[in-house]
Amino acid sequence: MADGKQIVGGGPKKVLYTLATIGRMGVGKAAKALTAKNACKACAYGMGGQRGGMTNELNEFPSVCNKSVQAQSTDIQPAIPLPIFEHEIADLAELTGKEMEHLGRLGTPLFKARGAQRFTPVDWEFALSHAAQKLAGTDPQRSFFYSSGRSSNEAGFLFQLLARAYGTNNVNNCSYYCHQATSEGLATTIGKATSSVELEDLTGADLILVIGANPSSNHPRFIHMLKNCRERGGQVIVINPAKEPGLVKFAVPKSPSSMLTGGSEIASDYCQPRIGSDIALMKGIAKAVLELGLADTGFIAAHSSGFAEFQADLDALDWGAITAACGISRDEITHLARQYGRAKHAVFAWGMGMTHHIHGVANVEAIANLAMLRGMVGKRFAGLLPLRGHSNVQGIGTIGVKPVLAKDVLEKMEAAFGVSFPAEKGMDTMACLKAAEAGLIDSAVIMGGNLWGATPDTGFASRAMEAIGFKLFLTTTLNMGHVHGLGDGEVLVLPVTARDEEWEPTTQESMFNYVRLSDGGISRLDNVRPESWILGEIGARVLPTSPIAFKAFSAHAKVRDAIAAIVPGMEELADIDVAKREFHIKSRVMHTPEFGTPDGKAHFVVTPIPASGTGQLSLATIRSEGQFNTIIYEERDSYRGNAGRDAVFLNAADMAGFGVSEGQVVTIASEVGRMQAVAREFDLPRGSAMAYYPEANVLVGTAVDPRSKTPAFKSVPVWLEPAGAVQA
Ligand code: SF4
Repeated sequence: MADGKQIVGGGPKKVLYTLATIGRMGVGKAAKALTAKNACKACAYGMGGQRGGMTNELNEFPSVCNKSVQAQSTDIQPAIPLPIFEHEIADLAELTGKEMEHLGRLGTPLFKARGAQRFTPVDWEFALSHAAQKLAGTDPQRSFFYSSGRSSNEAGFLFQLLARAYGTNNVNNCSYYCHQATSEGLATTIGKATSSVELEDLTGADLILVIGANPSSNHPRFIHMLKNCRERGGQVIVINPAKEPGLVKFAVPKSPSSMLTGGSEIASDYCQPRIGSDIALMKGIAKAVLELGLADTGFIAAHSSGFAEFQADLDALDWGAITAACGISRDEITHLARQYGRAKHAVFAWGMGMTHHIHGVANVEAIANLAMLRGMVGKRFAGLLPLRGHSNVQGIGTIGVKPVLAKDVLEKMEAAFGVSFPAEKGMDTMACLKAAEAGLIDSAVIMGGNLWGATPDTGFASRAMEAIGFKLFLTTTLNMGHVHGLGDGEVLVLPVTARDEEWEPTTQESMFNYVRLSDGGISRLDNVRPESWILGEIGARVLPTSPIAFKAFSAHAKVRDAIAAIVPGMEELADIDVAKREFHIKSRVMHTPEFGTPDGKAHFVVTPIPASGTGQLSLATIRSEGQFNTIIYEERDSYRGNAGRDAVFLNAADMAGFGVSEGQVVTIASEVGRMQAVAREFDLPRGSAMAYYPEANVLVGTAVDPRSKTPAFKSVPVWLEPAGAVQA
């Protein structure tokens, strides 16, 4: 930061902020929400459930963070006053994301007629009948179904079942914009698509690598584990182009010593490669591990395949090519390899800094290669840990909200319901929107999230969404995606219960493969409905003669029975509401070197170093402290010098080279868009830049990683044009 003051993550300010948020919610309401037996509504790290709110699966209490409190604070709001809907949608579209979130909860179904400028509050009967009539009048092949990771397993299963019974496999979820590359990259290497570790494994690791992630803002409770690792003599290696203050030092609120000493040191080593150069760095570390004789030859011989090709590729790779690509010296890379070589139990954790690239799958494979090289997967206290986003994004994928189901799952589903589902491959999220832009989509059912805001190339996002004749949204609050990209078509927005208001218990899966049971049952608004109830009603109306009795089947216990019978590893779901026994999904956590590949071995994969970007700068879109996915809780980022959401972060030498000073307004241009931004100095490698998501999506192109179909939100070639005056 330009003023040179050291920023520390966490600390008294964060505690006071959290207490103030609780004060605004009302202490009684907040306490009820936070202590009830429901899974945390925010990130996928996981907390709460049957052990009690604010308790994790290790029985640690309190296991809460400010993100969790922020998520509760929007759900506890009163309903949006009806006079708000007398305003035109264009007026609502003037509001910022934060202002939209703070309008209140959506408390009534809303309808926008064809060509109308306003939403009209409508009753449930009209809303459900109209939704059913529109879907019944649509060729299912000209529709898609998209879900965020907020919904429950029960609603998610019904959602994909309705889509398939209706006649389309165009069913996808937000992971196509976040961690789909993880699923693909883990499948090719260890034969599973999710974390190989459970939470407890973090308590015995003596090295945790945090790669392309900023858990100080996005998974705050993970910082506690990093601090503990350091305190027991372990190491934390952070690999991130940006020197994030919260990963350097963090005052952990639960730890008096951490608070009193002004914060605990988190990173023991902090490595800052160029944006998008991680494969070169991973290969460099692997090459150094081999040169130092630190590879686990026993593991490689007994439990892996593909090592000879992997080694030959590294042997042929010149050190000059590695250091030129990533900007890290051979000495620093060798130091990291030595640190890794000292570790007995290493966990590799990564975030969207790895997956948001055209080569996202290869990034994940490069991480897995490195873990396999020292036998750090397939044993306790070691393994591979994707840091996933929304609280049930992993569960939504597990239970089938995806365009292609495994053959055995599809067959079991067909047998269970006596229905033939469509056989063709469904479309991923970007493919659906491209089809919409081309005029090939007539109806879309969108459960949660902010698809318009999350989509790259904002102009494209608007064109694609506007071209869909009928859109049905299910949501707890209004966001930018409900007032932008609507076009002339018809829109229904239906208000749903929050997780702790569900009429029946629901289940969620954390990024540690741990399935929690949420009691629900809190009553706040009288005109909101559970997603499963809505899907059951629509299913019954659209498909009245289907062998699936959608209305009766939408009872959660019945849905759980079906999931338990159909989805491998989920058998314990059948009686979770009776036994109240939460569980790890079978065969996911790997404490022995038995892998999910056909030969049972871990597979080394050769990952070519991608060509470097074509822009003057490579720009990564980032989240701020006080942000959760597209939801903005705070306009200023307290961990990045209180920068506003219009900031572009630049290296100091680059700024001098461009003749740009701190606070100056500049124009950032990419191949798809331009935005005005305020230049802020940040500790970044030369040639790198960062700007906030979703605002900077205007710069991100729609090209996707050919394997994961994920857009490159984090390696955008851009050009900078000094434009205007310095801002205070
Ligand atoms: S770290 Fe994630 S799961 Fe844990 S309390 Fe915070 S938001 Fe909830």
